[in-house]
Amino acid sequence: MKANRFHEYGGLEVMRYEDAPDPVPNPDEVVIRVRACGLNHLDLDLRDGTSRIPLELPFISGLEIAGEIVELGSGVTDYRMGERVTPTFYYSCGVCDLCRRKRENLCPQRSMFGVFRPGGYAELVTAPARTLMRIPDNVSFDEAATTQLAFGTAFHMLITRAQVREGESILIQAAGSGIGSAAIQIAAQIGLKIIATAGSDEKLRKAEAMGAQYTINYKREKMLDAVMDYTDGKGVDIVFEHVGGEVFTDSVHALANWGRLVTCGAHAGEAPKIDVVELFRKEASIIGSYTCSLFELAQVLALVELGKLKPVIHQTLPLAEAGQAQQIIANREQFGKVVLNP
Ligand SMILES: [Zn+2]
Repeated sequence: MKANRFHEYGGLEVMRYEDAPDPVPNPDEVVIRVRACGLNHLDLDLRDGTSRIPLELPFISGLEIAGEIVELGSGVTDYRMGERVTPTFYYSCGVCDLCRRKRENLCPQRSMFGVFRPGGYAELVTAPARTLMRIPDNVSFDEAATTQLAFGTAFHMLITRAQVREGESILIQAAGSGIGSAAIQIAAQIGLKIIATAGSDEKLRKAEAMGAQYTINYKREKMLDAVMDYTDGKGVDIVFEHVGGEVFTDSVHALANWGRLVTCGAHAGEAPKIDVVELFRKEASIIGSYTCSLFELAQVLALVELGKLKPVIHQTLPLAEAGQAQQIIANREQFGKVVLNP
């Protein structure tokens, strides 16, 4: 098969489109012909070595996979050849305390496609049958490969962790990212008053089209001042944060009394300043969130099937152009997800 993989850590130049051995399924696995693979920022961190996760080189990235079953392991009885499927991007041990409490996103033994096993930057990939979800007829491969991380993570942050309620106000940082645009859609469905930030007017117009009531171009105006002006000095009930650094610090300042900040990432700075006095005087909460449960992945796929959520796809590229595809993310050019079509 063809794959786009890297033999050493480094810049985009280490990505190589080349022949790789066809994968062989274990008895409990299927082989999927990959039709679409959604890119994530983690792919870039794994390739350049900043993730600090040791990989078995050469390595095939790609967490979000959608395709058709082309081979069944000897023990697989629940699936047929040709079925359209998407494996959950991670799977857990199923037996530890955290798995039993349905907190399998925190399972210490969890495995993940494109991180702990080969991913979807290839024509073929193996997946345990127990990870598979059938793709509804009205959902495309590209949509199925861009639903899980963005919608799953945003759903877990907003519904499960921050427990947002209709009518509350929310500040959504970096609305042009895959997860930011997903958060806008979920917040709009619930009926939140949405303030969105982005670094270009074009991205802000798209955020408005998806349901943002007020937008802030952080390159032109000071985010915190704009939020406080718009909320008459009160601040917002929720901040959806995934940037880190000064954005995190200003996001805490932007919280109203009794506000909650929910965060899932910190590329711009992992140890931002927090004023603890401000936190307790406002009774504000800072809530960590890490991916999502397996059931939430099924929920967001169902919401896409129902038309309640619509994956936002910035661009699709052929497998040979995985380096160029990653460059789009590195340059933050995208609104929504970048997809490879092997
Ligand atoms: Zn477990």
